[in-house]
Amino acid sequence: MRKIQMVDLGGQFAGIKEQVNTAISKIMETSAFINGPEVHAFQKELEDYLGVKHVIPCANGTDALQIAMMGLGLRPGDEVITADFTFAATVEVIALLNLTPVLVDVDPETFNIDVEAVEKAITSRTKAIVPVHLFGQCANMDAILELAERHNLYVIEDNAQAIGADYFFKNGKKQKAGTMGHVGSTSFFPSKNLGAYGDGGAIFTNDDRLAHTLRGMVNHGMYERYHHDVVGVNSRLDSIQAAVLRAKLPKLDEYCSKRREAARKYSDHFSGQDHIAVPITVNNCEGVCDTCDCHVFHQYTLKITNGKRDALVKHLNEKGIPCGVYYPIPLHRQKAYVDERYRESDFPVTNELVKEVISLPMHTELDDEQIAYITTSVIGFVNG
Ligand SMILES: *Cc1c(COP(=O)(O)O)cnc(C)c1O
Repeated sequence: MRKIQMVDLGGQFAGIKEQVNTAISKIMETSAFINGPEVHAFQKELEDYLGVKHVIPCANGTDALQIAMMGLGLRPGDEVITADFTFAATVEVIALLNLTPVLVDVDPETFNIDVEAVEKAITSRTKAIVPVHLFGQCANMDAILELAERHNLYVIEDNAQAIGADYFFKNGKKQKAGTMGHVGSTSFFPSKNLGAYGDGGAIFTNDDRLAHTLRGMVNHGMYERYHHDVVGVNSRLDSIQAAVLRAKLPKLDEYCSKRREAARKYSDHFSGQDHIAVPITVNNCEGVCDTCDCHVFHQYTLKITNGKRDALVKHLNEKGIPCGVYYPIPLHRQKAYVDERYRESDFPVTNELVKEVISLPMHTELDDEQIAYITTSVIGFVNG
């Protein structure tokens, strides 16, 4: 059996090697390292793929979120509601901009932000909601957009983990993750579903004025050379990363379906097992979920419900099976984000999830033998 990896980027490289190498040597020869033609071409290709009017490339997914919030004109003291169960970057940028993060609990089935909890957290100071499409599945955008409209709030989608995912609205309309709110952000960190060979990120919007604002903001607030109209940042996608992303983008749907296929096989093996809860896809695409792109499985995350999660992590590591706990500590208990407004009783789901979740190897190169070995090892330990 091939060595099992959490993410197998080497195997994936084999399929795009020639294209990437040719593009990179061309960049070396033309010295168009920053904002060169590769970046512009990638931007256009991603706009077409996502069906969004504007893609603004930038340096990483954290910057993308921060700049999105700057572009919306959020001011210190404005409250921004986001999920307690996500990667720290989401709340970090809110705090960095001196906005007030308001963390709320998540849904136990999808791990995504709990819309009822969002509604309860809205005050007269609330300005925005940041749903995170965690592990590759969209949050409940029907309800979030409705709530935002009713309370006149911005919706900023943190789409670092769900690029390529579809969302079916209740009315049957289908849209790509990251393009439904006022603005969306993503990350091209190497292990993300569309990963560069270094850092990268992008902001998405259908709003022409906001897009213009953002394009200046990523480049020192400069709209005309050496005229600085607003305080911006320096956040650029470099040409080499754009070339890698251009090679991978046409394969993104194939990558997503390979992930989904691996997830389906995992879940088949785990079916009927006590104490092992497999990930659930919840969407409005009745009956077509096996073939549609509702869940792109950035992570395949189980809940181990008999208290053996930590021991399982140790066991799997001993057997040469990498795994991860995303995330082991709720954000409301992280030192940097502790706030007296929070009560433990506000976060029953997150407090439980941090003890139960475990993410198994998930990438485009998993084979049946590896999946069988992984699932047998998990089942043998949890229910053995
Ligand atoms: C990866 C990630 C980010 C940050 O992306 P970087 O490119 O690493 O800055 C933000 N939010 C979520 C949910 C992520 O998973």
